[in-house]
Formats: sequence, C-alpha cells, structure tokens
Amino acid sequence: MTLTPQEEAQLGGREIRRVVFTAEEVDARVRELGREITECYRPEDRLLVVGLLKGSFVFLADLVRRIALPVHVDFLVASSYGKGKVSTGDVRLLYDPESSLSGRAVVLVEDIVDSGTTLRKLLPRLQARDPASLEVCTLLHKRTDGDEHSPRWVGFDAPNEFLVGYGLDHAEDFRHLPYIASL
Ligand code: 5GP
Ligand code: MG
Repeated sequence: MTLTPQEEAQLGGREIRRVVFTAEEVDARVRELGREITECYRPEDRLLVVGLLKGSFVFLADLVRRIALPVHVDFLVASSYGKGKVSTGDVRLLYDPESSLSGRAVVLVEDIVDSGTTLRKLLPRLQARDPASLEVCTLLHKRTDGDEHSPRWVGFDAPNEFLVGYGLDHAEDFRHLPYIASL
C-alpha cells in the first residue's frame, strides 16, 4: 500500500491493514444518499437529522450538505464500546437531543451498525418522543440478518473487520482519515 506524505503523517506511524473504501468512493455514495433522502421528504416534514456521536460526525457533516431540503441538525451521545474492539452490549445515553422531535421527520445517522444493539436501545427512546417518522441512515452495515430495526439507508455493506476512519475510531485514533480502512 503506497501512502502520500499527508496520509503517512495522519497515521503517525500507526498501521492500517488496507483501505476498504477510498475518499472518492465515500464521496460518491454520500451524494447518492443525499439524493435518496431528499426524494423521501418535503419541506413541510421539517426534517431533523440526528447524529449519533462521535462516530457519525464526518458522515453527518457531508450528508446534510447533500440534502436539498431545509434541515435541522442535532446530536445524541451514546457509549457502547469503551476502548475495546468488541461491543459490551451496554448502551449508555450521555446526551439526548435538545430539539423537539414531536411531529417531525427524524433521520438518525449512525457510523456503523454491527449487532444492532445500539439501535435496539436508542430507537424506542427516540420513538417515545413522538416523531412523525423515524428512519435510520447508516454509513456502514456489518450484519444484514434481517433485524427488526434494519436501517432504511445504508452507505456500504461492510466486511466483518474492524474499521476506522471517516469518523470511526479505535481508542479515539483515526477519526480524521478521509477514507475507511481496516485495522
Ligand atoms: P452495534 O450496537 O450495532 O453492535 O454496534 C454499533 C456501534 O459499534 C457503532 O456505533 C460503532 O460505534 C461501533 N462499531 C461497530 N463496528 C465497528 C467497527 O468496525 N469500527 C469501529 N470503529 N466501531 C465499530
Ligand atoms: Mg461509535
């Protein structure tokens, strides 16, 4: 794998195994997702895009700029992985969106859906706040085993490897990579 000096400097000597989705592939797919989401709503739906921090911050920033509708943005913070690479199944909500969800079209934006545990825990809590509709848009989807909460929009089906970059971290490293890589 040949890296540019800028890419070398971003990694600071840490190793990645391979690039899974290049910055160009991600950009093209995010444009398509923006178009698809645009087609599904009208201005009067008062679309609210809620990003799950921290992992979704890069994806959300790019995605909302591809939605050709009035949009509001909020975030929620949940924590499930700690510093490991394996989910503990324990999802804590550290920050709830301040916006009123009531009567609005809400799209929850996730970096990656793996076991679906995070969605299973969070969606009922958002649903309880009475949105007119509630959909999920995830950049990456690891397991596609017909879960009750399967996301409406999926950027890419992901290989079963630990991925970093474009918002995704390992122990807070690698979030700023413009591509998605496997560790
Ligand atoms: P789930 O609850 O669906 O099992 O896992 C979802 C959360 O686990 C994601 O929001 C993400 O933070 C984390 N996660 C799952 N797979 C990966 C991965 O390959 N890389 C990183 N960085 N996080 C992951
Ligand atoms: Mg995460």
